[in-house]
Amino acid sequence: MIKISGLTFDYPGHRALHQVSLQVETGSVTALVGSNGAGKTTLMRCIAGLETPLSGSISVAGMDVLEQPREVHRIMGYLSDFYGLYQALTVAQCFEYAAAAQGLPAAAIPQAIQTTAQQLGLTERLQQTCDKLSRGLRQRVAIGQAIIHGPKILLLDEPASGLDPEARASLAGLFRQLQAQGMTLLVSSHILAELDEYSTHMLALRDGKVLEYRALAHDSTELVRHKSLRITLAQANPGLRAQLAAEPSVQISASDERSADFIFSGDEHAQAALLARLIAGGLTVASYADQKENLQQSYLRSVASYENNGQTARSAS
Ligand code: ATP
Repeated sequence: MIKISGLTFDYPGHRALHQVSLQVETGSVTALVGSNGAGKTTLMRCIAGLETPLSGSISVAGMDVLEQPREVHRIMGYLSDFYGLYQALTVAQCFEYAAAAQGLPAAAIPQAIQTTAQQLGLTERLQQTCDKLSRGLRQRVAIGQAIIHGPKILLLDEPASGLDPEARASLAGLFRQLQAQGMTLLVSSHILAELDEYSTHMLALRDGKVLEYRALAHDSTELVRHKSLRITLAQANPGLRAQLAAEPSVQISASDERSADFIFSGDEHAQAALLARLIAGGLTVASYADQKENLQQSYLRSVASYENNGQTARSAS
């Protein structure tokens, strides 16, 4: 849905993006993560065609964002990190304005307002003016303005900032719903736990470069190759570590006499066979389960690997 090739973007005196290349799959929800100044907002603005890169290209659904910006905007919604709402307008008027600005035919606007309000749980609020709304509701109105024209792609820059946990949870529910409708989402946030709930992919940026872009959890080939497992015993056994260490497919990350975390390499049959051997070896296995790496762990692992590689490169030079 989004194809970025060799994207480099400079602010005066500062390179914000260096040779960024990636492809975002249709129907995916990509968590755009990275420290302050990593280039997340700049990347989103480039994808939205709001900035002109120094070099490289971006296409959305096969259209070049700089050559066909209007066509791209017709299928794209964008919520910037700092957005404004017209305080004196009612929610319905905000939606009407956004729909007209997106070029929806006048006859289609009332229905679009109703559908969007329903989707965002704002039907009861349509006649309220924005200055009377809570922060969470204002955020919903802003998202409503971004999706009023039924885009295929939605770019959301820090959509949950400043929201309380309840409002964030309901936003996560909304994103899952939009994805279920086939929308492709790119969402940036510093709150990784929240992105973890609904993201299918992680794009980690650092100093304007792609640290890592990959599918989360559902990458079955990766799970087959390296699976993080935890075993816990009903009864302490000092031989637990030795038994695991004797298995060539096991790499122990942490262990004591009651439990162990390890990386297992192999398919499900090999995993079942390992369990059988451990039980036959006298371990009272109470649980033997996948430890899904969460987004925070995944991001920190990318950062650590980037820093280790940087140090290796620095010490080699
Ligand atoms: P944050 O998480 O803080 O929002 P970000 O990952 O979105 O950060 P960007 O806002 O894209 O990062 O900024 C990338 C880099 O470009 C930063 O070093 C920032 O200081 C710089 N930058 C951003 N806007 C400008 C500008 N208008 N002029 C010069 N430099 C800028």
